[in-house]
Amino acid sequence: MSKIIASAAIRGAHKILERAKKSYSEALDRFGPDQEIGFPNTAYYLPIIYAITGIGVSKIRDAKSVLELCERLTPPPVKENTPLPYLAPALDAGMATLFAEEIIEAIRYLEDPDFYLANCEDVDLSGGRIWLGAANDVIFRKRGVEFVDGTAPGFAAIAGAAPDPNTASRIALELQEKNLYVFMCGENQGKRFAEQLVEAGVQIGWPTRLVSFGPDISAAVFAIGFACRVAMAFGGIKPGEFRKNLIYNKDRTYAFVLALGDVTDEWYANAAGAINWGFPTIADTPIPQVLPTGICTYEHVVSNIPHEHIVQKAVEVRGLKVQVSKVPIPVSYGPAFEGERVRGEDIYLEMGGGRTIAVEWTTSKRMDEVEDGRIDVIGKDITDVEPGSRLHFAMVAEVAGRNFQEDFEPILERQNHHLINQAQGIMHIGQRDIAWIRISKQAVEKGFRLEHIGKIIHAKYHQDFGAIFDKVQIKIYTDEDKVREILDMARASYAYRDARIEGMTDETVDTFYSCILCQSFAPSHVCIVSPERTGLCGAYNWLDCRAAYEINPEGPNQPVKKGECINERYGQFKGCNEYISRASRQKIESVSLYSLMVDPMTTCGCCECIAAILPMCNGIMTVDRDFNDMTPCGMKFTTLAGSVGGGAQTPGFLGHSKYNITQRKFLKGDGGILRLVWMPKRLKEELRDRLQKRGEELGIPNLPDLIADETVALTEDEVLTYITEKGHPCLNLEPLL
Ligand code: SF4
Ligand code: ZN
Repeated sequence: MSKIIASAAIRGAHKILERAKKSYSEALDRFGPDQEIGFPNTAYYLPIIYAITGIGVSKIRDAKSVLELCERLTPPPVKENTPLPYLAPALDAGMATLFAEEIIEAIRYLEDPDFYLANCEDVDLSGGRIWLGAANDVIFRKRGVEFVDGTAPGFAAIAGAAPDPNTASRIALELQEKNLYVFMCGENQGKRFAEQLVEAGVQIGWPTRLVSFGPDISAAVFAIGFACRVAMAFGGIKPGEFRKNLIYNKDRTYAFVLALGDVTDEWYANAAGAINWGFPTIADTPIPQVLPTGICTYEHVVSNIPHEHIVQKAVEVRGLKVQVSKVPIPVSYGPAFEGERVRGEDIYLEMGGGRTIAVEWTTSKRMDEVEDGRIDVIGKDITDVEPGSRLHFAMVAEVAGRNFQEDFEPILERQNHHLINQAQGIMHIGQRDIAWIRISKQAVEKGFRLEHIGKIIHAKYHQDFGAIFDKVQIKIYTDEDKVREILDMARASYAYRDARIEGMTDETVDTFYSCILCQSFAPSHVCIVSPERTGLCGAYNWLDCRAAYEINPEGPNQPVKKGECINERYGQFKGCNEYISRASRQKIESVSLYSLMVDPMTTCGCCECIAAILPMCNGIMTVDRDFNDMTPCGMKFTTLAGSVGGGAQTPGFLGHSKYNITQRKFLKGDGGILRLVWMPKRLKEELRDRLQKRGEELGIPNLPDLIADETVALTEDEVLTYITEKGHPCLNLEPLL
């Protein structure tokens, strides 16, 4: 705790304690020691005092020992701006403050029984009274359980007032959207937050979760007391078990204080009290900050936050996970729509698929660079184009999280495919820079726009992966220049991710990983991902699968013990075969990691490339998704994908990633990269440096030039002529068939 704040909190505690002592002695004189006091209709006495000390205050006389305890807890007052070396005295002073305030509030009930609408759930504004006071047990049971079952993650205790009613209602709405309760107390320059809401026409009361506890800062005890009761009633924590109560709330109740307006010594004292439960304070004024992590999960006091960011900041500081219960889009959403196709006349807008660029990139940013839920569409949207149009498309999902690791980027990114696909009337294929999206006319009619793709990503990332990140914002571009700019950045990032696996070999690990993410489309498809065989979609390598397994041990990526090596040449392992048999439901019994001829791995529709044999050439060709023309094997990419991409094992054909072509085990059992006789020129150029390097390793430094492409050969005959002329090494390899 900042040393200055600590001294202010102690001064505040003294002021409040003086007030409590005064209230107590006046009440003693007026009502006598045996007069009952308490919060009406609750079984928890004065709940903070009861929870922390075990003392049940039920008569005026009981307050005496509590006030004495407060005296002992509160260190001697310190002069303004005197630094205090430790946090502990301020925390104790804060605790004493809350005890004293409970006594002040209890005596108020005695002196002015009509002050609070104590037994009302609702605020009836016609009566002009809006202060609810402590929740009675009926309200508490009904509302408190929501803190336990997750319906409400916690509460925001608001002290003071916003600059104006509009700002107040905006802040309240934002908190409601996060399912938080808003507990209001205190005033700032004669204004109070709850009154501002009433003025703005906002409905307040327990049913809207906007709870007007009381007009003074001392009403903060109704909020903290509520948390103490939750721990006792639902957490099984006994009165007096103060450590357990504090820890229960720190871990389970996402609460924080929003201090709006001038922070007085009394506010500091209450803020210090709240820190005991791990509830931090976020202020809109430039008070000293208390940043280092100690009791609260992250910072203790964060200040000078503009009103438009204050809720976001609070959620972040308290470590509250954003809950998105529903995907907010105008079409239906769910796995039922995942396999649905959008074809021909039904297409309103198409992006990618070889005719335009479509690229998806998930990347990490600093916490302060990301505004959770923000979605920007830059360039033309659906409403700007005619039915049947095409657009370029680049989507950047910028993720931030205190525990987020760069290694998680590809895992989130790879989800885009099935997440977007689950929207009714939207078809999504592929990933990375080979994404392909079709949006149907029906979806557009229902109001689907490009921003909704971002909404899907935001909602589902939070739902499925909320544990690993805190915030995500999405940028969607459709202007060609900008899309190309993103494409370059994304490709650099893909290359960097791919290269992380460089240098690892299959021999150095005893565990491979499976991927069955694609079984929703290709039910028997199983990728075995080893260091030297990345997934055929190109988006998952061994490290990614390992990280995905760590994040979600029940998920689609499972460790597969290699077990005994059955065939070294083809890359067959006992453990892999056993796994594949189970995971494919006995459709496939054995699989080679390094061959397209003998028990090749299954292929699904996401593959970046498909390899096929060219028997006359004694070689193998491969074609990537971006190449739309006929290939020397007599089929276009789409035809190949249609015939082998359903999850079956098809000897002679194999789906693989681009990166895999230059991994050393690529088709090793069939002669390796030296079998490669044809590939599209653009792909060859993309891989040239790495092809060259592999060639050099194998004693064929001009390998890229020996491989034919569409500029020199369109048919198998022409390939044969070309490779014969060039003296391609495959002509000397053992016969393929
Ligand atoms: Fe996983 Fe393979 Fe599908 Fe890629 S292609 S997502 S590695 S199952
Ligand atoms: Zn797939």
